[in-house]
Amino acid sequence: MKSGLDVIIVGGGIGGLTTALALHRFGISARVFESVDQMSPLGVGINIQPNGVRELTELGLGDRLAETGIPTAELAYFNKHGQLIWKEPRGLASGYRWPQYSIHRGELQVLLYEAVRERLGADRVLSGHHLKSFEVDADGVTARFVSRATGAPAATVRGDALIGADGIHSAVRRAFYPDEGEPSRRRARGTRRVSRRGLCTELVGQSNVSTVRATSPAFIARKASLMSSSRPRRVTISSSSSRPWR
Ligand SMILES: Cc1cc2nc3c(=O)[nH]c(=O)nc-3n(C[C@H](O)[C@H](O)[C@H](O)COP(=O)(O)OP(=O)(O)OC[C@H]3O[C@@H](n4cnc5c(N)ncnc54)[C@H](O)[C@@H]3O)c2cc1C
Repeated sequence: MKSGLDVIIVGGGIGGLTTALALHRFGISARVFESVDQMSPLGVGINIQPNGVRELTELGLGDRLAETGIPTAELAYFNKHGQLIWKEPRGLASGYRWPQYSIHRGELQVLLYEAVRERLGADRVLSGHHLKSFEVDADGVTARFVSRATGAPAATVRGDALIGADGIHSAVRRAFYPDEGEPSRRRARGTRRVSRRGLCTELVGQSNVSTVRATSPAFIARKASLMSSSRPRRVTISSSSSRPWR
């Protein structure tokens, strides 16, 4: 199917890159404009729930996900004394048809970035393009991009539609809802409270949280996703199957 549409996607994070792959699957042309000058694998360990894995599998990324992520078998919460508060099976172990994956956010982003470049073409992801403004008219949309570092104009681009995938401080959302303000400080404080998060190679500390603390800064092992929070004192471990992480 060829729609003839050309879509501008603002933001090359997980949302923008996945949207580009989904549009491509339906024959819709898309370009991704990313603010940073160079894509790099930044972030923490995150979990992709089975519904997300299902979508990415339907985009033909199931094998790559399985190579990069670790299938999550169990989620467990411990208190500061290492005592188990709650645990439950996850992903395939809890009866879903698709696994849950613990994965490094940056590696997921790189996986998506490479898939977009392979399928849509290397010239369809443009880094160093920070959205400054856009105008909608009867025939489409005009977007103006600048260099975020210098403020110098980078490009003026026409498209049939523009999708804002530019994150929590979205310039696209601000254009539509100028009085909304920044995301609530309460939510931002909640995020800062999460002090450590990553993937571990060994399931240390399931019964002793201080062992987890001692080992967590380097996130050396690759068998579990771990999140520790200073307030309230709590550790969350999502353990994987025994298959070693790449
Ligand atoms: C600590 C932490 C843990 C998390 N854990 C999980 C988890 O386990 N599971 C889960 O599903 N989610 C998790 N999330 C949430 C998840 O990371 C986000 O929902 C997801 O990354 C959002 O993706 P996005 O593409 O919408 O935005 P982003 O990843 O923020 O990407 C936005 C992109 O847009 C670019 N950009 C910004 N402004 C402009 C502009 N003006 N012009 C051009 N480009 C621009 C940015 O540089 C960026 O690359 C977690 C988040 C945090 C902070």
